[in-house]
Amino acid sequence: MPLVSLTRQNDYALPALRVAVGELLAPLGGMKRFVKAGDRVVLKLNLVCPTRGNLVAYTQAEIFQVVAEMVLDCGGKVVAGDSPGAGSAAKVAKIAGIAPLAEALGVPIIEFTGKEIFSARRVFRQLTLARELLEADAVVNLPRLKTHGQMMLTAAVKNLFGAVIGTEKFAWHYRAGADYAMFARMLYEIERAVAPRLTILDAIVAMDGNGPTAGSAQPLGFLAAGEDSTAIDATMMKILGRAPEDLYTVQAATAAGDTAWQNVELRGVENLADLKPTRWRWSPTQTLAMIPPRLWRYLPFVTEEKFRRWTALYPQIVAGKCVRCGKCLTVCSVGALAFNGADVAVNQNKCIRCYCCHELCPHHALELRGGWLSRWLRRLNWLWQKI
Ligand code: SF4
Ligand code: SF4
Repeated sequence: MPLVSLTRQNDYALPALRVAVGELLAPLGGMKRFVKAGDRVVLKLNLVCPTRGNLVAYTQAEIFQVVAEMVLDCGGKVVAGDSPGAGSAAKVAKIAGIAPLAEALGVPIIEFTGKEIFSARRVFRQLTLARELLEADAVVNLPRLKTHGQMMLTAAVKNLFGAVIGTEKFAWHYRAGADYAMFARMLYEIERAVAPRLTILDAIVAMDGNGPTAGSAQPLGFLAAGEDSTAIDATMMKILGRAPEDLYTVQAATAAGDTAWQNVELRGVENLADLKPTRWRWSPTQTLAMIPPRLWRYLPFVTEEKFRRWTALYPQIVAGKCVRCGKCLTVCSVGALAFNGADVAVNQNKCIRCYCCHELCPHHALELRGGWLSRWLRRLNWLWQKI
């Protein structure tokens, strides 16, 4: 039975944060259970890409500091890193405020560049992943809870997509195409390959709305930790008022026969409803998931596939924000973007809705917009919540 530990914590002020992380790990046996003297430990940060003025997109610098201190205290040889979709880990760590703390602690920020073929022998027979993660004695995963346009949430499992080196991520988006379930199977298999010993998830300040880079800071006031990534993600779904099965990566785990998430043992907080936010905005892409199950009964003539097409959201330029840097063109694996006068045009016939361009535009110049049906449904959903 996987154990998920939860602790309330309202800010990142250091003395209190050290105590909170200590309390969080106590039911799991403390950091010493996960790190032995001499272990080579990689802290897997979230350094998604260089983004302007939205530090909630990243692993919080103080969380990195406290966890790195704990690993060092256990005698671990610690490095921290990621493979951002654009830019370098060193550059993004600087933007995130992690670089000076790492320097003070003597913790190198590493770029995942080494590639190793991992024989998954599952849906994806081979995965080419960061050698730095596969060869580490222990990986400690440090995600922040954020909404995600394609996968709904980025939390414990999705944070390990950084094990795919840099721009190879876009090739995987291409291979999975518009099949989100297939993409989630790949994420689940990456998580199994990396097999983090410990995950410490930060929801002191989460990101809602247009995540994972352009959303809003949403203080939720808690931390979560555990050894089972899917169990942590399933717990987050419950806290956010949704069925865990709605999350693609939970579906992927279940399809692979991993159903341990159904029997989570909680520590620290007995009633998850106590952590439920008064307000949480999902990504606007989640229109389909917003349909209350009861309503489907009255729409028997509408197949899910048709509905997906009618309500699909596509990236569109926000007037006046595009600086024609061209970054989105380089990340689009299907060539659906092209320069068009002062900005960029999206070819919806080619777009597979991976939302990489939206995630990686450093100027937040791309918004996800749908047609009249998705707008109408969001209003309906709002009304439904009020009834
Ligand atoms: S949409 Fe964003 S990433 Fe694309 S060219 Fe414009 S500013 Fe650059
Ligand atoms: S236009 Fe954007 S969302 Fe569409 S396929 Fe290209 S990168 Fe993905």
